[in-house]
Amino acid sequence: MTKRADWIWMDGALKRWEDATVHVMSHALHYGSSVFEGIRVYDTPNGPAVFRLMDHVKRLFNSAKVYRIGIEHTPQAVFDACVETSRANGLKAGYIRPLAFRGAGPIGVSAMDTPIHTIIAAFPWGAYLGEDGLKNGVDVCVSSWRRLAPGTVPPGIKAGGNYLSSMLITYEAKERGFHEGIGLGTDGLLSEGAGENLFLVQDGAIYTPPFSASILKGITRATIITLARRMGYTVIEQTLPREALYSADEAFFTGTAVEVTPIRSVDGMAVGNGDRPVTRALQDAFFGLFTGKTEAEDGWLTPVPAQ
Ligand code: PMP
Repeated sequence: MTKRADWIWMDGALKRWEDATVHVMSHALHYGSSVFEGIRVYDTPNGPAVFRLMDHVKRLFNSAKVYRIGIEHTPQAVFDACVETSRANGLKAGYIRPLAFRGAGPIGVSAMDTPIHTIIAAFPWGAYLGEDGLKNGVDVCVSSWRRLAPGTVPPGIKAGGNYLSSMLITYEAKERGFHEGIGLGTDGLLSEGAGENLFLVQDGAIYTPPFSASILKGITRATIITLARRMGYTVIEQTLPREALYSADEAFFTGTAVEVTPIRSVDGMAVGNGDRPVTRALQDAFFGLFTGKTEAEDGWLTPVPAQ
């Protein structure tokens, strides 16, 4: 097991990385009953800062509510613990992973009286699809796998089990030589990447599939919509057919892990003519949040105190 940091917060206290373990009979291991978040810490001129921490904590609690995972800490306590775990590990830039899950107890799927554990890890992590991808764009395919259908396993929350769908999409994409895969909804309309939201640019306007398109309502997606509108772009949340991908002037992914990553080609066809003025402007605005060049909204940057 790769040790990524010294400390993990577990059920209310910091534990050494190697001591933060669970029993093999944990419910989550058998049935996927976990919810989690992915949050980035950026190295800003004012020191390390967590990006949109309370928004992530709120989404964690909303995800937990759907699966009756009763997190035994308040949102404020989880918020504080994310900062504390980053501080304890001396994290300057990287990733915070809070996770709440059903532990070992009764083996039945329906058992609701399993103990609920909450952990928070914080460790360095670079560009998810590579530095080259961030700069030059990634090559993607449309997956043969559809996203989770509305009314089945809810795609709009961040539960561990949902990532079986992401794995099918991303494994297939990688086996076919692509960096990432895009899932269509069961209606055949565009949904999102395996772990990213999708944006298209057409004739200067920015389009992205709506919440009803089997997407996770990404916090980076919301950030980009806010920044783009501030910059005067028209942003339209609407259902989009697959062919919109092939006629787009630009396309990009957003997500905590991928940040704002241009899409260079889809299914072997180049996106637009290779110029990416809108994507580039949005990347600049996004990364400017962490250099102070772009004004952050209230609550977007939470400082991590020095160790
Ligand atoms: N969709 C999926 C399936 C994801 O896993 C993620 C990453 N959390 C996103 C979209 C992007 O969400 P966010 O910007 O909140 O990280």
